[in-house]
Amino acid sequence: MAELVLLSFDRAEIAALHKQSVNGEPEAVRFFQNLWADYRDQSLDCFLCDREIPEAEFPPICCIVGDIADPTKAIGCPLCERCRDLPQMVRWNRCMKMLRQMHRAKTGKDFHYVFSPLNRQPHPSPSRRRGRC
Ligand SMILES: [Zn+2]
Repeated sequence: MAELVLLSFDRAEIAALHKQSVNGEPEAVRFFQNLWADYRDQSLDCFLCDREIPEAEFPPICCIVGDIADPTKAIGCPLCERCRDLPQMVRWNRCMKMLRQMHRAKTGKDFHYVFSPLNRQPHPSPSRRRGRC
């Protein structure tokens, strides 16, 4: 049975690693290539469509978003190829919508969730936290 697995990261560390990976630094590239290696022997569900990610699509693409509950953390969400291929803004919008629903289900409160690209600094206002994807 497939399950939804979310990875937790230190937000500053994963942002730095992402930037290094984009710049082609081998250690950072390897980090992202092996992100799901611990889950090689189990079935994963796609964060957006809840479809079991087929074996042929392993490792899944990882959408990294800010953790609503803790602004110093980030969450890695596995996506299937079909969701990966969505237009970027659609993918980010669906990730944010899902996170808001998860936050509401957990706390009973709505959350104002504002998108910001991965390499930007979190919003300085404590009343608003930004998510990344
Ligand atoms: Zn999907």
